[in-house]
Amino acid sequence: MGQLAEAFLAQIELAKPIPYPLPAFNPAKKRFFAHLIIDYLREVAGNVDFVVGLTDVELYSVHANSVISETHFQTRSAVISVGRLRDFLFGERPEEVFYQRLYKEIIRSLGQMLGLPPCRNPHCVMYPSYSLYETDLKSSNFCPECEIKLRLRLGATSLLR
Ligand SMILES: [Zn+2]
Repeated sequence: MGQLAEAFLAQIELAKPIPYPLPAFNPAKKRFFAHLIIDYLREVAGNVDFVVGLTDVELYSVHANSVISETHFQTRSAVISVGRLRDFLFGERPEEVFYQRLYKEIIRSLGQMLGLPPCRNPHCVMYPSYSLYETDLKSSNFCPECEIKLRLRLGATSLLR
């Protein structure tokens, strides 16, 4: 949390857990519809600049049958399914690998909410990893090009508060 606040010079509030919005559950797919969860999160979050929800349920979107995360630029809201980030953990400190993956997902979501497009640099946090292997390979930082775009965006973004 401290790392995240520092990266974005932001104030971060950790909200209490909330129940799953049952209408978002699709029994045929046995997954939750990410877009509905995002709308629900934005509704309950109230007057904050960005919303990032973490969930242990599996998600699907209009683009794919299974997604790790989904971000909406217009409402600056996102949801991340943390369960899949626990797959294939390795090393002497597997929890650290998990937290790094989660951190990268959160940073990428925030980047998307600020209007950053996907990046082609596989070491940049905005690189859209197609596997956990790629997520582990990339860094949690923005490449110089994305960093410039981010600064321009931050300057042009009017936050709610
Ligand atoms: Zn980049």
